[in-house]
Amino acid sequence: MLQAGFSRASVCRGRIRSPQCTLTPENHCTFRQLILQSFCKKSPIELKGTEMTKDAQPPRTLVWPATHAKFPPQPVEQRFTAGAAYVDGEFCPIEEARIPLLDWGFLRSDACQETISAWDGSFFRLQDHLERFQRSIGRLRMTSPESFDRIHSIVHELVVLPGFRNAYVQIIMTRGRPPIGSRDLRLCKNRFQAFSMPYMWVAPPEVQARGMSLHISTRVRVPPQSVDPMVKHYHWLDFQMGLFEAYDAGAETVVLRDLDGHVTEGPGFNIFADIEGRLVTPGHGVLDGMTRRTTLELCRDLGIEVVEGKLAPEQLRSANEAFLTTTAGGVIPVTLIDNVKIADGTPGPKTAHLHTEYWKRRAAGWHAEPVVYRQVPEGEKIRTG
Ligand code: PLP
Repeated sequence: MLQAGFSRASVCRGRIRSPQCTLTPENHCTFRQLILQSFCKKSPIELKGTEMTKDAQPPRTLVWPATHAKFPPQPVEQRFTAGAAYVDGEFCPIEEARIPLLDWGFLRSDACQETISAWDGSFFRLQDHLERFQRSIGRLRMTSPESFDRIHSIVHELVVLPGFRNAYVQIIMTRGRPPIGSRDLRLCKNRFQAFSMPYMWVAPPEVQARGMSLHISTRVRVPPQSVDPMVKHYHWLDFQMGLFEAYDAGAETVVLRDLDGHVTEGPGFNIFADIEGRLVTPGHGVLDGMTRRTTLELCRDLGIEVVEGKLAPEQLRSANEAFLTTTAGGVIPVTLIDNVKIADGTPGPKTAHLHTEYWKRRAAGWHAEPVVYRQVPEGEKIRTG
């Protein structure tokens, strides 16, 4: 899927360094191996986007913090090793989780969700995620069968059961179903379910280090007049088909447009671009992503000028730099758009700065809530076998 120009960029720039070792793509050390090494060494992991020169250019190095636990926590039971789920009031191993065929969450995509990450044993902005979930539920006129305190503790338990330090957790409300023979939405009993998996990236660190390739689709994102983009929903067929378009065009991901032709967002991320020296991110018709929110806060703190407004495809194509924001990866550089390099084709300085600050601050406990690693209390319902 990688294009010649793209794989060339990854080979010449994909040097992996830590104070203990300098690794190149040729010796096949993976980021996962580096994370494991870092459990004991407490050293940050750096992937260079470009070489540092003597002239004052800021280094374009992407830095991920090392994890600090000497020994990662263990799964409460081996069957939870791959992840855990919570369905209809019971926990089970992720592979065993099922939803009823007649749930309108499945038959009508009538559902909302929230994706939460934990890194190095701490959730990021958990309270904000739970509040956004509550907002989505309200806008969809759903009623949660679980209290919010209970959902909060379920989220913790989903990370405790598999013993993850770095986790991806999704909490989901579905419409449920009305009695058989009825199509009356008001008779549906809404259902809550959730699952955890190891932390998942929109693009793995080694791809982030050289930047992603993006396709700007002519496809229109389901408009806000039809579906509220501030609800984190599963109306994703536009994204899915857009992704196939992107793959056909030799790109790794896609952004869709609005009815006026402006750029909106992509499958699981918001977008920012440096246009004539200031960052622009689409202001309407998009989810107020948690990482987008975080990036806006970072920009304010770091004195980086940013506006929420309109972003035309031509502006994006000729941007000084561009990046995606997502819970599944943080701040992710884009270096190729519609087969044309952004600037010199390496992650831009603002992107690298924001990326590094995002992870540095997370490691320092910013917006963090530590996972309460503990055994599940006796009597807790865990479905067996
Ligand atoms: N936009 C859409 C449509 C999404 O689905 C997501 C995340 O899944 C985002 C943006 C990014 O949001 P966040 O930063 O909260 O992960």
